[in-house]
This record gives sequence, structure tokens and C-alpha cells, in this order.
Amino acid sequence: MKRIMVKKRLLDGRACEKCIQAEELLRQRGVWEQIDEVVWAEEGDANSPGMVLAARHGVSVAPFFIVEEDDGSEKIYKSALLFLREQLSDAPKTSNETDGKSFSMEDLHSFEQQYASRPPKEIITWALQQYGKDCAIAFSGAEDVVLIDMAVRTGLPFSVFCLDTGRLHPETYQFLERVRTHYGIEISMMSPDTTALQNFVQKKGLFSFFEDGHKECCGVRKVEPLKRALRGYRAWITGQRRDQSPSTRGELLVIHQDEAFAGKDGPLVKINPLAGWGLSKVWGYLRTQEVPYNPLHDRGFVSIGCEPCTRPPRPGEHERAGRWWWEEETQRECGLHIAQES
Ligand code: SF4
Repeated sequence: MKRIMVKKRLLDGRACEKCIQAEELLRQRGVWEQIDEVVWAEEGDANSPGMVLAARHGVSVAPFFIVEEDDGSEKIYKSALLFLREQLSDAPKTSNETDGKSFSMEDLHSFEQQYASRPPKEIITWALQQYGKDCAIAFSGAEDVVLIDMAVRTGLPFSVFCLDTGRLHPETYQFLERVRTHYGIEISMMSPDTTALQNFVQKKGLFSFFEDGHKECCGVRKVEPLKRALRGYRAWITGQRRDQSPSTRGELLVIHQDEAFAGKDGPLVKINPLAGWGLSKVWGYLRTQEVPYNPLHDRGFVSIGCEPCTRPPRPGEHERAGRWWWEEETQRECGLHIAQES
């Protein structure tokens, strides 16, 4: 078997940024030595070896990877992460994947003090070094793709799950799929319990939240699936920020023990790397790093949840004013983060 990486060299002689990042990823994972050959695609030279390979395989992105099997068959990878996962699976594990170590409340308090003012990527790196695939990013909104982007760049293993309430916008489902293919990651889609959902809808209909509040519907469609998801991990990473809701998230910590949910060994650690960021920083990152985002943002939506319960905020309104807008501000949490914030 032969593994080839095709990199692109720009007209000014530099490697393209994505090729540099992909090489860094493989080096960080300790698998760079398993690349047998690097072939350069020279910008503006259609006859350079990499350009010839790209034309032969119909690939228009860089970098890409070719795996030549001994029987002459070839497999092409446009995602470094997918290539890494499928072809270089002997990447070293993180310490906690192998030793199962857990931290005391004092340890977590000390980590919180140490990382409270550190950049998000450092916090994510710390989390993934400790927990690896036992650490899951809860993915739905713009902030969460920032987390996924940063996690991918660490080169460390991690997990991602998403709560599929069954009531998301079509655009959100398309966005989820786009993120999955863009990064070559697996996203575990958590659906509501079928029996509980059928009973609830039969009894209360499809829009009871407009009459008696969103808590019951969110309980069935979000909180129970979240509980079930978290029981598979030892830590989770959220995109919560303090400025999203000064009344409910103003005291948000960066690292702490989750008091609302349990993990697979019992205690669960919650990590909020973007706690100190504002919305403009999130969007600055999305734009400069060319991170995919939900197209609903271009139609004025800011904080996006389920379709019936989300609308764009009006001019001058807070970003979360478009969520459950018919309820009091202090009631506008979906039950996913309540315990830590009260
Ligand atoms: S956001 Fe609305 S539709 Fe979605 S789970 Fe909560 S109440 Fe139900």
C-alpha cells in the first residue's frame, strides 16, 4: 500500500494554508511518517505532477490524499480527518482514553482558575488531551461550529452530537449535513424517545408550547435525549457565552462539574470555552476562518433553535429575544443548562 498526499504550491512559492494545516494535523497525531510521498500541484502549471493527479482523479481541492492498494485499486480522500480516521487509525490515544483518570472538584476548580482567561483553542486542547473521544461537542448553533473548527485543528480525537428535535428548520438540517461533510466528522444525531414523544403529541398536540410554555416539549424533545447522549461521555463542550443572557448565563464558568447531568462514569465535566466571547468575536472567527454557518443567519436569525420557537430578533432586541419570544426572559432556557446557572 502507498499513501500519497497532494499539496498545492501557490504562485508565490508558499504552500496553500489548508495544506499546511493538514500536515500539522497529521504531525500532531504522530502519523506523518506514514505518508509515503508528497506530490506538489504547482499553481499555474497544469503539467506539474500534483495537477496531473488532480485532473486524473477529478479533484479540484487541495490537499487531497491517494491510497494505492497492492491490487492496483485507488481510494481518494478530500478530507484529511477522514483520511486520518480510515487509513491512519493507529494514531496515539490521549492519556484519559487509556487510563480513565477522573478529576476531583478541587482539581476542576484549579483548572477553572488556570484556564478562565485563556483563548478558547487552548481550553479545547486541554479538554481533548484529557478526554479525547470521551469529550463531546454539543452541536447546533454558530458557536458550536467554531468549537468544531478549533477541535479539528488540534488534531486530537473528539465526539460530536446533535439533538434532532424533529422540529428544526430545513436549512438547519442542510447545515448539519454541510458541517459533517466539510470536516469529515461523525455527528451522533439524538432523537426523542418514540413512546414519550407519541404520548406527548397525542395528549398536547404539536403547538402546546404557545399555550403553556416550552418546558414540557423541550423536556421530551431535548432534555431527555441530551441526558441519554451525555451518559456516553465523561465531558462535554458547549458554545454557551455569558453575554447571551446576563440573567441566566452571567456567571458561567469555563470548566466545572455539571450539576444537572451525569456522564458515563457518573460525574460529568462541562467546558464552555467561549464563555468570555461576544457575538462579534464568534462572527469574526467564522468569517476569517471561512467556517460554514447556517444560512438562516443571512435572513436575520441570530440564536437558532426549533422552527416554531425561533424568529429573528427585532432591531435593538437582544440576540436571544427571538427564542420563545412569547415568554418572560428569565424562562427562556431550554432546560439544557439550567442547573449550573440558577
Ligand atoms: S424549542 Fe419549541 S419545538 Fe423545540 S423542543 Fe422546545 S418547545 Fe419544542
